Amino acid sequence: MAKVLSNKIASIQPSIFSVISAKANELGAVNLGQGFPDYDCDDFIKQAAIEAITTGHNQYAPSQGTAFLRSAIAEHEQKFYGLFYKPNTNITVTSGATEALWTTFQAILNDGDEVIVIEPSYDSYSPCITFAGGVYVPCKLVNDTYELDGRLLQSLVTTKTKAILFTNPHNPTGKVFSKEELSWIVTTARSHNLYIVCDEVYEHLTYDCNHTPIPMLFDEPEVKDLVIRISSLGKTFSVTGWKIGWVLANETVTSAIRAVHQFIVFSVSTPMQIAAAKALSFITENPMYIREYANTLMVKRDKLITTIESIGLIPYIPKGGYFVVANFSKVFSGTSREYCQFLLEENMVATIPLEPFYSKNVSLPNAVRFCFSKKDETLQNAITNLAQQNLTSKPIR
Ligand code: PMP
Ligand code: GLN
Repeated sequence: MAKVLSNKIASIQPSIFSVISAKANELGAVNLGQGFPDYDCDDFIKQAAIEAITTGHNQYAPSQGTAFLRSAIAEHEQKFYGLFYKPNTNITVTSGATEALWTTFQAILNDGDEVIVIEPSYDSYSPCITFAGGVYVPCKLVNDTYELDGRLLQSLVTTKTKAILFTNPHNPTGKVFSKEELSWIVTTARSHNLYIVCDEVYEHLTYDCNHTPIPMLFDEPEVKDLVIRISSLGKTFSVTGWKIGWVLANETVTSAIRAVHQFIVFSVSTPMQIAAAKALSFITENPMYIREYANTLMVKRDKLITTIESIGLIPYIPKGGYFVVANFSKVFSGTSREYCQFLLEENMVATIPLEPFYSKNVSLPNAVRFCFSKKDETLQNAITNLAQQNLTSKPIR
């Protein structure tokens, strides 16, 4: 008989993003589920990768990342946010934000340490924490406006709390946290000496507002020391398949992160790091390029919102990211998973249910997530299919 597997595996479900994409492909439905653009990245980015390969950058990179990319990240931080990170001691290149998150929790948690996670939360957060021996403690955003209840956050801190984890701009809601909400996070972390782990993969995709990293808002060395920032190239440059990410942290945390990272992947693809450095340097010198891209996405967002409203859903207006979360209680009486299945089977539009973004046994909003980082043609097909809901839906069952 085969040996028994790790107990940790029992709680792991297949990723909702893979499940929904597979179903959408099988049915030939319009895929507004998984968060990736169905349009291609720009040519200069592809050329940079091709050139890196043809000019011989094909052997292992240093484990912490190439000097070229770490310098480009440092310059990007300085130019966009006025923040100083030293390439040699504060920056580590990872295999996407996914590995950055995993490595960070392996580096900072001991068995039984608690991490307060602002919910709804990205699906990889819970396994990252529990596989590192930690305990996931949810702090649910409240009301239809997904606000942070600062007093609730404070009440969750115990002697075992080690960190607060959240995404800003947020996935799935597209919320950009207000200064007041960030103040609650910082005050709580400071008074209990907690790390703040902030996932900023949508940092450049903001609509009518700017992303403000915590150390920029609270310009004090003690605050910067507590904050571990994670980002990646995928969303900014429409290259989600490249899996180039990074972690910015103080020197001690960076050493620990590098110690873990060397035994997870050792190093990240060399030519893609060279290309990533070129892409980042390009926006550092031409910030309008990324602003214009965000404006293009905002038009897509607004188009989708109009349709969502026309079929009776109530959208939460996202200030950042790829997604619109919309409440369906006026038109459908089942769960989020059931409405997602309904849209997929009846309207041939794939969306993501909110259940996987929440821990078990919490009450969920009656809402699903739509992704708008899609070709105009794809959005138009989705709009046409969704519009048919008015004719065919079985409202309030
Ligand atoms: N964090 C969040 C909030 C995400 O939405 C995603 C998906 N892009 C990731 C992390 C993973 O990023 P990457 O593809 O760079 O691993
Ligand atoms: N971040 C993407 C989303 O939220 C999915 C990435 C993945 O499939 N792991 O849809």
